[in-house]
Amino acid sequence: MSPKELQSANTLVWFRNNLRVTDNPALYAAAQEPGQTLAVYVLCEEYIGRHQTAPARVDFIRRNLEVLEKDLAKLNISLVLMRVLKAEEIPQALRELAKRNSCSQFFFNGEYPVDELARDRAVVEAMRAEDISCRRYHDRVILPPGTVCNQKGEAYKVFSAFRRRWWERVISSSLEPLGAPSAQAASKISGTSETSLNNLFEGLEQRDLSSHWPAGEAEAHRRLKVFLTDHVEHYHQERDFPAHPGTSQLSPYLAVGAISARQCLHAVLKTQGESEGARTWMSELIWRDFYQHVVVSFPQVCKHRAMQTYTEAFPWRYDEDKLQAWQRGETGIPIIDAAMRQLLETGWMHNRLRMVAAMFFSKNLQLDWRVGEAWFMSQLIDGDFAANNGGWQWCASTGTDAVPYFRVFNPVAQSKRYDPTGKFIRTYVPELRHLSDRQIHEPPPTKGYPAPIVDLKSSRAETIEIFRTLPRSTIPTQQ
Ligand SMILES: Cc1cc2nc3c(=O)[nH]c(=O)nc-3n(C[C@H](O)[C@H](O)[C@H](O)COP(=O)(O)OP(=O)(O)OC[C@H]3O[C@@H](n4cnc5c(N)ncnc54)[C@H](O)[C@@H]3O)c2cc1C
Repeated sequence: MSPKELQSANTLVWFRNNLRVTDNPALYAAAQEPGQTLAVYVLCEEYIGRHQTAPARVDFIRRNLEVLEKDLAKLNISLVLMRVLKAEEIPQALRELAKRNSCSQFFFNGEYPVDELARDRAVVEAMRAEDISCRRYHDRVILPPGTVCNQKGEAYKVFSAFRRRWWERVISSSLEPLGAPSAQAASKISGTSETSLNNLFEGLEQRDLSSHWPAGEAEAHRRLKVFLTDHVEHYHQERDFPAHPGTSQLSPYLAVGAISARQCLHAVLKTQGESEGARTWMSELIWRDFYQHVVVSFPQVCKHRAMQTYTEAFPWRYDEDKLQAWQRGETGIPIIDAAMRQLLETGWMHNRLRMVAAMFFSKNLQLDWRVGEAWFMSQLIDGDFAANNGGWQWCASTGTDAVPYFRVFNPVAQSKRYDPTGKFIRTYVPELRHLSDRQIHEPPPTKGYPAPIVDLKSSRAETIEIFRTLPRSTIPTQQ
């Protein structure tokens, strides 16, 4: 390459939900290229609104960007911050930035939902029109979509079959995470940020939950270490009890990409790979991959469609009072109320409770699971389209490999089983603190606490009967 060519061979790296410098394939590859590396983050107002991004998540992104900016500076890489109103402005904004900084290459890590794919395609087209070459890497999953298929080359619809094949593929893959790239020579390209980090988020609703969720890669790795040292061994026994710190609480960090799933898998295999707890935890990482693959193979789920099309005939109700009671944690069912208040207070909810709350919503209240899905998204600090949609469709029995419609959790039974002493309920529902361990799951009339808004037994029976009689001309085939 001539000196002139070298000068113009800079590489622009686009950061999205991968806010870290280690095990970041696009950043790592850019740093191997001969020219200089420049990083960019684009905040799109339309995306934040359309995807119901929770204020807690907006704030978490801002705080993670703050850490990332400093971590990149140590590598002599500048992070350019841009804000656009509409998604359609992104291609031009990035193309102009690349041209201004003599970037002949553009690297990014892929995202899989329909909107994101369309956005990325438009950006790649705009870049190619300027002869800027583009490379897409995979970091959001351990195994990329399209690489875990059945004998006919089709995507799996059933998790257990997916998991078997996934393991076969993983064993033959390199799992060693990438380190951070070496620092480049002091950068000659500063990129001139269009705005400062504080201004970038100006006017957007943000909720500071930093005391629960400190930001950054180092914090994510600290949590992983504590989990692997103290908890993973008993994960299979502890993970369903919301009052115990039995799970990793890494989901916000995985969702924003402060840590990669591959780093998690590699660490657990190195330290605890053989234990039953570790195997159960790895299974959850595979569920995470599974739902990302579902989004690519069955993109209808990104368009508010049920995976099992026959369930679209279910006459979901519209009841604003019941919806608000559920959202506020005032349903009169203590475990549901504790769960929903945990979400409101911390931006996070324990997995067992996400299942119980979502099933109560769809099977007892018979409210449309899509409305519940949107509410979760608007509150969760770990909001991730694929996992959230997959979780909701599982609970509502509309999804691929979902719970059968006749298996409806009874929230009171779940409460007695997974919060036997009522410790979790007492944390979030102070009105019931004085009740005995036995009474707390099904309280007698209590001043300041509502009576149940629905009869669990009759609503369950009614839902099962409606599902049973839905016309099934379009039952999807199982693999
Ligand atoms: C209705 C519903 C909605 C959900 N919405 C989301 C969401 O928006 N974002 C999200 O990250 N998870 C979601 N989940 C999955 C799961 O509840 C959370 O990932 C988990 O509670 C996070 O806690 P943790 O980090 O301690 O998990 P751990 O038990 O420590 O698991 C480790 C990691 O595996 C992944 N994981 C675990 N369980 C699942 C699962 N069932 N599906 C997909 N990935 C999983 C997560 O990334 C998690 O951080 C949802 C589940 C349900 C039932």
